[in-house]
Amino acid sequence: TGTPKEEIKRIADQFAFTGELVSCGPCGSGHINETYMLRYRIGEMGSIKVILQKINREIFQKPEELMENIAGVTGHLKKKVLQKSGDPEREVLNLIPTKEGKAFLTDENGECWRAYIFITDAVSYDLAEKPEDFYESAVAFGKFQEMLADYPAETLHETIKDFHDTKKRFQTLKNAIEKDSCHRAASVKEEIAFALQHEYLANVFGELLAKGEVPLRVTHNDTKLNNVMIDLETGKGICVVDLDTVMPGLAMNDFGDSIRFGASTALEDEKDLSKVSCDMELYEIYVKGFLESCGDKLSAKEIEMLPMGAKVMTYECGIRFLTDYLEGDHYFKIDREEHNLDRCRTQFKLVADIEQKWDTMQTIVKKYQK
Ligand code: ADP
Ligand code: MG
Ligand code: MG
Repeated sequence: TGTPKEEIKRIADQFAFTGELVSCGPCGSGHINETYMLRYRIGEMGSIKVILQKINREIFQKPEELMENIAGVTGHLKKKVLQKSGDPEREVLNLIPTKEGKAFLTDENGECWRAYIFITDAVSYDLAEKPEDFYESAVAFGKFQEMLADYPAETLHETIKDFHDTKKRFQTLKNAIEKDSCHRAASVKEEIAFALQHEYLANVFGELLAKGEVPLRVTHNDTKLNNVMIDLETGKGICVVDLDTVMPGLAMNDFGDSIRFGASTALEDEKDLSKVSCDMELYEIYVKGFLESCGDKLSAKEIEMLPMGAKVMTYECGIRFLTDYLEGDHYFKIDREEHNLDRCRTQFKLVADIEQKWDTMQTIVKKYQK
């Protein structure tokens, strides 16, 4: 990735690392930040590894707010891990401050950098090699929710404004249809009809929240498999990473986005829609892991609404792809013509499939409800 070694060394020098730098290289396969692993020798005896990360400033315009969120949440998680006699250096991200005692560094180009203790003897997977990996991610995100259940979610900053405001996303779609700036609307009548027919999905959670029927929670908002560190020896999920999008939100949305992506039988841009469905075995595995680790902290209403979370997140994603297609593909990177339309179609196919499997999905949730 992008930054020359010499510059990384100069940046690293301004953090409160101890020891002598012995190696440095790119780490992981994240798509948002630039992530490096650095190793320091300490005395004759041992070494310590650290993570140095350049924050993506195109996506995150207010790094101080984002870092405030991360400092607050990781501080809270650390207390919980210690209470349970867990390993505070492996089960939670630990920020390493700059030499000046700041949570992050702004360099002379205006780029922002932060550092974490490296989580040792663990990996993150881009794709599940086996269903157990998906289960472990469910347990890890469930524990994350469990440990943060008593955190004041409303004190967190919204690092991406209106991220899961599905109602706003729907309005944006309607504007795009009306404007039809690329003259594509006529060619996607079916997709537009599907989106409009399902408008209730854009409102259901906003209404529940407004009526006080579900609480605001600390949500992760990027509940992908590769944001969970898996212990190399035990295969267990030990720590959730990638906290840039931690925000106030709804538990059902974090759950739902995991299902949308992780329980789908096909890639997000599969052209052959007959391959696209929501796998009920994977769904059940995730429900099991998630509810086992945080079921007693969620309200009955939240648990009942978990399948709705899967439907709403999938629908939201579908209307975002459709909007971008209508507006001329400005937001999502495309590799081919109609790429966004293909993505929209897989999401709507999944929504339809979830509707077909609705009773099963609810029965499965009840099965694991404590
Ligand atoms: P992005 O937003 O770009 O996905 P992440 O914070 O997820 O950035 O970091 C990218 C990858 O780097 C992760 O998927 C993980 O494999 C690895 N990683 C991040 N933080 C740590 C850490 N503290 N210890 C070990 N590996 C880490
Ligand atoms: Mg990541
Ligand atoms: Mg990220």
